[in-house]
Order: sequence, then C-alpha cells, then structure tokens
Amino acid sequence: MAISRTFTIVKPTAYKNGNLGKILTIIEEHGFSLKALKILRLSVNQAEKFYDIHKDRPFFKDLVDYMSSGTVAVAILEKDNAVEAYRELIGSTDPSKARTGTIRNLFGTSIQANAVHGSDSDENAIIEGNFFFKESEIV
Ligand code: ADP
Ligand code: MG
Repeated sequence: MAISRTFTIVKPTAYKNGNLGKILTIIEEHGFSLKALKILRLSVNQAEKFYDIHKDRPFFKDLVDYMSSGTVAVAILEKDNAVEAYRELIGSTDPSKARTGTIRNLFGTSIQANAVHGSDSDENAIIEGNFFFKESEIV
C-alpha cells in the first residue's frame, strides 16, 4: 500500500472540551505522521467554501454556523492508504453509531459535533489540505 495523505479538522466542541491533544495522540499512535498543523477559527465564508459540496443539504447552514463558532485545529496526516485508514480510525458520521474506540465514538457529542472531519478521497485530501496550508507550511 502506498504512502498517502489525508486531511482532518478537529471540530469546535472537541477543541473546547480539551480533547485536541488526546485526538492527536490517538492519530500518532495509529501510525499517522503530522505533516502540517495549526489552530484557527474559520470565518463563515471559509466554512461555506470548505463545505460547498453540502450546500444543498438541509444541515448546511447549521454546519457552517457550527464550524465557524469556535476554535478548530486543521492538519495534514500521512500514512499508507491514509484516507481509508483515517476514516476507519474516526468511525461513522453519527457518533452514536461509530464503532467503540473510534475518535467519533470517544469524543463526538452529536452528528454535527462529531469531533473530527476526515477527507473522503485522495483528491479531496489534496484540495482540503491546500485550502488551509501553503506549500511552505507542509513538511
Ligand atoms: P462525514 O464527515 O462523515 O464525511 P458528511 O460528509 O456526510 O459526513 O457530512 C459532513 C458533516 O456534516 C458531518 O461530519 C457532520 O458534522 C455534518 N452532518 C452530516 N449529516 C448530518 C445530519 N444529518 N445532521 C446534522 N449534521 C450532519
Ligand atoms: Mg464527508
């Protein structure tokens, strides 16, 4: 399996609850390398752009408001088969359905506040990583 990259966001509730360090530890313990990392607050405009693919979904406005409501952490992660491996590590979108021990199961508090984002394809991982990081910020 080839080494590849994925992109994650630690969402506002997980950050506010003091779980960023624990989540990064789990990520590293599962063999991912951090290639870029920062904390920031998304503007409404940035959140709309990031989630543009969901603009016609009923939860879009709530999601944008939520994602711009507080501090988040964004990161690029590297591992063999990174996109699939990270989706496996985070679990299902709905934390109540996420497998025991997954990041969303451990730290998610609702389907919206599900602790983390994870890219769904290699192509989107690159687009999403480039949305937040300049080339000089990625190692
Ligand atoms: P995932 O993050 O697992 O890839 P989606 O891409 O389908 O899930 O949705 C993007 C984000 O939108 C989810 O992580 C979650 O925060 C939010 N979301 C998805 N479905 C719902 C829903 N039914 N109600 C509220 N928020 C939702
Ligand atoms: Mg998705």
